[in-house]
Amino acid sequence: MQRLASSFLSLLLPISLCGQSLTIAGTSAVPGSTAYGRFDVAAGSDSATWVPFAIIQGSKPGKTVAVLSGAHGTEYASIIAAQQVIPRIDPTKLSGTVIVVPLINRASFERMRVHTNPVDEKSMNGGYPGKATGTQTERVLDIIAREVIARADVVIDLHNGDIDENLRSYSYWTRTGKASQDSVALELCRAMGLDHVIVRNLDVTNPASTRSASGYSLSLGKVAVVAEAGRWARTDAADVRALEDGIVGMLGQLGMLQRARPTPLRITWLGEDSRVRTDSNVVWTPLVDRGARVRSGQALGYTSDYWGRKISDVVAPKDGIVTFIRSVPSAWAGATLATIADLLERPAGWKKP
Ligand SMILES: [Zn+2]
Repeated sequence: MQRLASSFLSLLLPISLCGQSLTIAGTSAVPGSTAYGRFDVAAGSDSATWVPFAIIQGSKPGKTVAVLSGAHGTEYASIIAAQQVIPRIDPTKLSGTVIVVPLINRASFERMRVHTNPVDEKSMNGGYPGKATGTQTERVLDIIAREVIARADVVIDLHNGDIDENLRSYSYWTRTGKASQDSVALELCRAMGLDHVIVRNLDVTNPASTRSASGYSLSLGKVAVVAEAGRWARTDAADVRALEDGIVGMLGQLGMLQRARPTPLRITWLGEDSRVRTDSNVVWTPLVDRGARVRSGQALGYTSDYWGRKISDVVAPKDGIVTFIRSVPSAWAGATLATIADLLERPAGWKKP
């Protein structure tokens, strides 16, 4: 009787033989289902918090992809895209697992604080792998490193232009010099669908280069792609959609979802970006738009004092394309005013930075 019952069950539930349930932080997703959960981060030297996540567990086995968003909690387009892509991925048609963390920096979102976690004033994209006994940012990153990044084959980190950032949408193809990582990342950048790609070289043996979500993931031998779409913290539908479509496109590229063969993307390749910063507190007036092609010495904008008297022009340090231009008058010492990237004919080979 028992034997009969179990063989009958296995006939009824072929899916359970093909995949396994996944449990993260007490939330379980059986094959072919989506589960919503949260990481509870206990209080330490500062307050407790929690971080939302979803597990999309495919009906068939396959790779694990992590989608991280909202390390900067006012970069709303990427947060909304990560939220909206969860129900767009049909777990019954998925091979493998997608773990989505749509809002890492909840305090930044709730208090509309740009760039940092207001609880401890730390960056939530610059402190990996975190620290279980550290401040709130470090405790959150420790959990994401252990529970999400450690499980992933591929890490997709989403961003967009923040309140102060007039940003040209692009992906980063960050290369480690290891062919197996770099070739997959290149195909994923194409599948992401943003037509500007910044080519970066990373030295994974340099600890300073592996503190971001993508750098840390690459140092563990995973594939990582960073995509940014949208500016001024706006939630323009086209930008949100571009990020969502990009995630679905990458899952197709990885063979995790069926998709029609996409039209090949014509990519504008960009080299290392040079930042132009101010060394004192000034009032900033930009004179060029994102995406502008500029010549070395061309004025990008000018600075003024707090009485409104012009101090000086700020000029492009080289020929290139404006990937980012500061869009608000507030500019404190050390703030980035503009970023200029080289236009490349095609990406050169990897070189140790
Ligand atoms: Zn960001």
